[in-house]
Amino acid sequence: MSVGTLTKKLLEAALFYEIWDAMKVTFKHMFYKPITFQYPREQRTIPDTHRGALGLLRYDDGRERCVGCDLCEAACPSHCIKVISTEDRDRPLQRYASEFYIDITKCVFCGYCVEACPVNALAMTKMYEYSTHDKRTLLFDKPRLYQIGERYIDDAKKYLVAHHQEKDDQSSREYRYFFPQSVLKATQPPPKHLT
Ligand code: SF4
Ligand code: SF4
Repeated sequence: MSVGTLTKKLLEAALFYEIWDAMKVTFKHMFYKPITFQYPREQRTIPDTHRGALGLLRYDDGRERCVGCDLCEAACPSHCIKVISTEDRDRPLQRYASEFYIDITKCVFCGYCVEACPVNALAMTKMYEYSTHDKRTLLFDKPRLYQIGERYIDDAKKYLVAHHQEKDDQSSREYRYFFPQSVLKATQPPPKHLT
């Protein structure tokens, strides 16, 4: 080490240079507008694409959208969804979820279940304040999921639109179920030149 470098280091140590250097950063930030939110008094504006707690949705006439197909359960990478489906006695060939559970403690908020649903019965909401001392309350059952869906219906509709799963927030008025194209083709009458 050269004499010049050694002198500089000794001088910096004697004058507590590192402390003054750090204080310079602190003083500089005293004149900046604070970016910290005083949560919970102040809350951020959450974007429509936000992946918060999941909720189950109904059509506008009150009927449950879910047809109990289990596709959300199959798509979930965390295996935190359990659907028990049953035949709807009032509507032959129709099924519905008699029980529906989501263990939200295992959920990684990937949104795959929402994408897998053929009838947009599931949506994510902007609800994120559900901390609790009792972990058992974080196993969301069907009534709780519908309660979230009803309470945060506007968020849920905006989520589906923001993720291009519904054209607009009026789409929930229509019953959405698209048969696979292969089924439609198989049931269509053969072209005239073949009959
Ligand atoms: S968001 Fe992802 S992890 Fe959570 S329930 Fe849906 S598929 Fe499972
Ligand atoms: S929420 Fe959708 S994917 Fe899941 S069981 Fe119901 S209809 Fe099927």
